This record gives sequence, structure tokens and C-alpha cells, in this order.
Amino acid sequence: MNLADSERMAGVLEEAGYSCATEASDANVIIYNTCSIRDKAEQKVYSALGKQAKRKRQHMGDLKLVVAGCVAAQEGAALLRRVPELDLVMGPHHANRIGELLEQVDLGAQVVAVEPVMIPEDIAVPRRDSALSAWVNVIHGCNERCTYCVVPNTRGVEQSRAPDAIRREILALGEAGYREVTLLGQNVDAYGRDLPGAAADGSGRRAWTFTDLLHHVHDAPGIRRIRFATSHPRYFTERLIRACAELPKMCEFFHVPFQSGDNDILRQMKRGYTHQRYRRITDSIRRHMPDASISGDAIVGFPGETEEQFEATCELVREVGFDRVNTAAYSPRPATPAAEWDNQVADLLKMDRLNRLNRIVNEVAEERAQRFIGRPLEVLVEGPNPKVAGQAMGRSRHNKLVFFDGDGGALTGELVTVFVDRVHAYSLFGRRVA
Ligand code: SAH
Ligand code: SF4
Repeated sequence: MNLADSERMAGVLEEAGYSCATEASDANVIIYNTCSIRDKAEQKVYSALGKQAKRKRQHMGDLKLVVAGCVAAQEGAALLRRVPELDLVMGPHHANRIGELLEQVDLGAQVVAVEPVMIPEDIAVPRRDSALSAWVNVIHGCNERCTYCVVPNTRGVEQSRAPDAIRREILALGEAGYREVTLLGQNVDAYGRDLPGAAADGSGRRAWTFTDLLHHVHDAPGIRRIRFATSHPRYFTERLIRACAELPKMCEFFHVPFQSGDNDILRQMKRGYTHQRYRRITDSIRRHMPDASISGDAIVGFPGETEEQFEATCELVREVGFDRVNTAAYSPRPATPAAEWDNQVADLLKMDRLNRLNRIVNEVAEERAQRFIGRPLEVLVEGPNPKVAGQAMGRSRHNKLVFFDGDGGALTGELVTVFVDRVHAYSLFGRRVA
């Protein structure tokens, strides 16, 4: 999400006549697009800022310092008091407005733009880092209130983009040579809840659901693969699973965070589903697409988590057989309910559980990867492997990195078939076949 926001900010700036500096020391404007999901991410920003603030004091001149993203939204004007050298503090909703905000800075003001706003329909053309694969925001914000999470405070309430605007963006991407799009949202499957109207078929459904959106964009010429992230289990319907199985461009790759395998912890997190319901979703995915890759996020050491409750998370990882799990130790965040509770788990214990869970996650991923041995896979070539000369790399529909001997430069953007003969937990190796 932050990468997509950065690309939009870069697009706005290029339109306003800025160009990208190769070294921070040559830049007139330095923007930190920040994350505050965990304390560690936030602390990184302060140490980086300290250095630039010092440079600015020494040179005064025309260096402009900007903090964008969730740390900006969370701290607001308090950031100016902490780092008075800052020129602009802007929350993630304001990404499309960075040009006009910098104009205000040019007039000599220190600007804070963190108030909730309606996000303007993206007039900005992002400056995309890849020429093959593009992020497309479809819904901004989050209406959940998970008790550990800072996102609803920093990214505000859900705002679905208009289906036709999304379709236009994807058509333009197809025309420009992009092969793959990833539809983005904090809870992408909640798409459409805030759009007015009811379905024309009299079913009582809303006018637009995420499944309807997939049907609406699926035929875009040139686009060969469609992915989406992140899915919330509460909105992951059977209808969505069927659409993914039936629509040929939909990749059999699903990122559905579960956070915990214990029902009491899930309730205290206010996730709104149970271990059993989560299992029904993954079982249904595998029934329709036996080969599907499923990944998730998990938190260990949530306040009050007992050894037995932690074990339930490990159990869920083994039962589902994830291809990947992003794991994290619970990090208390400002202005979130769980941070105030007095049953916090000791840091050492959190680290111990994190290490134990990571071992299981890696074992399970390696075991799951074995299914690809001896099989031909469709690979979208991304380019040469920067680490091994003569080797090309790309991704399978399952979102696995695949390496094979070949001219990655010449093949970039091609869909090739690779026969897999060796696997690691997170990457596959093979040879190209006709
Ligand atoms: N909207 C998505 C995830 C967004 S945040 C969802 O609900 O699934 C990305 C991940 O960061 C979360 O899935 C969670 O695992 C992790 N995370 C969020 N807050 C956290 C916290 N306070 N401590 C540790 N991990 C956290
Ligand atoms: Fe955070 Fe929960 Fe919203 Fe995900 S659904 S962004 S974890 S509040």
C-alpha cells in the first residue's frame, strides 16, 4: 500500500516538473513515506529524519523535508515539535495532493495535512517502478476496529473507488504493456460497501461487491494476470472463491491474514471470525483450486496469550499448509485498545514464540513447495536474476519466485513455461521448456 502511495506521489511530482535524484544528498525535496504498523517501523523514521534535519540546519538553503504516510497521520503537528526542521507532514489520504501542499511550503509555511478527506479520484498517473506489474488501489481506508491496529486511525474510513475509474485505469495499463495488476485495499474484499444502490438482479445484494468488480475488469486486453490483497476473512465469500476459480486471469494466490488460531484471542482482537470459519474458507479455496497458494499474517504475544493459545496458532499453520506467513510479535500502538491492557506478554516470551512459529512456517512452506517438483509452470519473466549471471527470474501464478537459465533481459514481459526440478521454501528452480 505504501509503495502504491509512493508511486502516486512520484507521479504528481513528475507532472509538476520535479525529477528523481539518484542521491539523497542531491535532492531539494526529501520525502519519507512512513509506516506505523509496528513500533520498529516508526523508530526507523526518527533516526533517518535526525540525519536530514542536521543537514538542513547546516545548509539551510532550499532543502525541503517531508514526512508522509501513517507516522505523519498518527503524530500530526506533534512531529513538527519533535523535528522543527520539517516543512510538511501529510497523512496517506493526501498523497494525491502533494504538489499543491509543496506549493504552500514554497510560500514559506510549515504545513500539516492530516485531517480526514475524501480522496480525489486519482487524477495523478503514478510513476510506476515496474513496467509489467502494477498496483491499483480499489479501496482506501479500513472500517474494522481490530484492537491492536493503528490503521483505522491513520488511513481513515473505507472509500471505494468508482468501478468505471478502476476499469479505465486497468484498460490504460493493458494498453501501456502491463501484464499483471494487483488490486489493493486494506480489506480489498470489503470493496463496494460504501457505494450506493442495490444489485439490479433483485438479490438484495449491494450494487457493487468485490466479486462484481473482478467481473467488471477481467476482460482488459493485454492484462494476463490479476491478483488482489489483502483479504479479510469476514468478507471472503463463496461467490468470490467461485469467481477466482472461473475467471482465467485470476491467479490462484490468496493472502488472507488470520492473526491467531485461538478463538478467545480472535474475539479479543475483534476480528469477527473463528478458527473454524477461517478453515472453512481455506478448505473451500482448496476444493475449487487444489493447487492454490494461501498466505496469511499472524501476530504472536497478543496481550494475555497463553502457551496453549499460541499453540492453536501453530496448529492452524500446520492444518492449512500455508505457502507463506508474515509473522510479527505484537507491538503496542498509540491510541489502540489492546495497548492499554495490563496483561501484556513479556518481550522475551514474544520473541521466543516468534522464533518457534517462524520455524514451523518455514517447514510448512518448504513442504508445500514440493508439489511443484516435476511440473511445468507458467512464469511471467521479470528480468535477469541480479545475483546470478545467465539466469532469468519471474513469478508463477502462485506468486512464487522462479529462477531458470535464460536471457532474462530479452524475455522480460514474456510468459514462458518452466519445468521445475528443485524447490526452496520460497523459490523454485527449473529449465525453460517449449
Ligand atoms: N487489513 C489487513 C492487514 C493490515 S496490517 C488485515 O486485516 O488483514 C498488516 C499486518 O500487520 C496485519 O495483518 C497484522 O498481522 C500486522 N499488525 C497490525 N498491527 C500490529 C501490531 N500492533 N503488532 C504486530 N503486528 C501488527
Ligand atoms: Fe488493521 Fe484490522 Fe483494519 Fe486490518 S482489518 S487494517 S488489521 S484494523
